[in-house]
Amino acid sequence: MSKIAVVGMGQGGMVAAIKLAEQGHDVTVFEKSSRGEVSYDWKDDIRRDVFQVCELPLPSEDIFIQKCRWLFVSPNEKHSLEMPPCPPMEEISVERRALSEYFAELAQNAGCKLVFDTEIDRLVIKDDAVCGLVVNGGECDFDLVIDASGMRSELRAQLPRRFGIQSQPKDDGVLYGYRAFFKRVEGAETRVKGIDSTVVLKHLGEEGISWCNLNDENFVDVLIGRINKLDDAEIEKALAALKSFNPILGDELVYGQRVEVCLRASMARGVADGYVAIGDSAFMTMPLMGSGIESAMKAGKMFADFMAKKPKNYKAAELWRFYARYMRKIGSQFAFIDVIKRWALALNPKRIDWIFGSGVIRSEDLAFVSTETGGGKFKPRAKTVFMILTHPLFMFSALKAVSKGLRASNVAEKIPLKYDEKRVAKWAEKYDRLIRG
Ligand SMILES: Cc1cc2nc3c(=O)[nH]c(=O)nc-3n(C[C@H](O)[C@H](O)[C@H](O)COP(=O)(O)OP(=O)(O)OC[C@H]3O[C@@H](n4cnc5c(N)ncnc54)[C@H](O)[C@@H]3O)c2cc1C
Repeated sequence: MSKIAVVGMGQGGMVAAIKLAEQGHDVTVFEKSSRGEVSYDWKDDIRRDVFQVCELPLPSEDIFIQKCRWLFVSPNEKHSLEMPPCPPMEEISVERRALSEYFAELAQNAGCKLVFDTEIDRLVIKDDAVCGLVVNGGECDFDLVIDASGMRSELRAQLPRRFGIQSQPKDDGVLYGYRAFFKRVEGAETRVKGIDSTVVLKHLGEEGISWCNLNDENFVDVLIGRINKLDDAEIEKALAALKSFNPILGDELVYGQRVEVCLRASMARGVADGYVAIGDSAFMTMPLMGSGIESAMKAGKMFADFMAKKPKNYKAAELWRFYARYMRKIGSQFAFIDVIKRWALALNPKRIDWIFGSGVIRSEDLAFVSTETGGGKFKPRAKTVFMILTHPLFMFSALKAVSKGLRASNVAEKIPLKYDEKRVAKWAEKYDRLIRG
């Protein structure tokens, strides 16, 4: 059995940690935050069945609620479409800190050692292979390091260059955000009665979104997110605009913080000798919405399944079999979505107003953006096709985007199954050209 370190209590790393400890490995998880303060102090959305898929018990019902109904609003704020409802509790909003604690308890019960308040800033690398971590100034040996420390992993950039692992996402692969909670204006109702969450696409014509959600009876959850950069002036402008059409949004700030959301397809290579990245540290997010909890958890489970088959060693060539499987199953769907997202972001906001106002898409079509698994659900109707055909320029750019998206997905699916340095490098170059970010 092996000595394994997990850096960061990311969900994917934690699923892997729990399963690997259950397989009898000696697993230590390092987390820079204190116990009880891991992750964000708010709720985010996932599908409930991800726990079943990962063969984990469902968390206590106290930590999640039914996901709110969402309204998507066009940039000019004149048109809107409601996200189609799911069966009750199919999609849930889960308290992030409580979810981290749920994972911590499962990991402890499985026999993992949890080390809080410990930031790992260095890998130990010998002969081009990761063989441990620097912990509180001292070197600790590990057979394998799982990097679950998020999109801005400091460890990833230290890997030997020959593995070709991208050190940072480019700015256009990141949504720079400000998430804040405000007191609700007493007695005020949401923009559309019964729908608590409103998200404006290309808000104020910018590349990004803004949302305004009734979080519970008294608080309003705001997110202002922009690709490339978000400065204070833009936050002020967006807040004022949100207030003008969301009667619930008051002036009293309860708390707010700057955030970054990974908004790009998975990286081409996520393994090196003695190292594997899981979750945001390998950019395993759904590129349109930035959701990464489910995909990280599924990747963690896939990694544990790979380990159950007893790999010969933890060299990149062996670990690659896991990464190739992840890319074929999940990463390839994200590659398609990444291309479509880039096309949508580059669209003139007036075009999006038209798409919303003309009936070219309906509420049902929005299942496409709902969750990680929604990718396959978009089915154009005869009316959609007809309306697109009557707008030749739009048709041309839409078809080009779909065709490029399918090519990206196809390339991702054709990831070499066996690690041969030259073949992998050639494939990664092709994939990166289509994905960029
Ligand atoms: C505003 C916002 C809204 C989102 N909404 C959703 C949503 O609705 N649904 C969804 O699925 N996803 C959502 N996401 C994305 C989601 O948070 C991530 O994709 C998901 O958490 C996977 O990230 P991770 O666990 O890999 O990394 P992270 O959540 O970033 O976790 C990394 C952990 O590593 C720790 N760490 C970092 N560096 C070190 C170090 N050097 N040493 C020790 N510890 C370290 C950090 O403290 C942290 O606990 C949202 C993200 C944001 C910012």
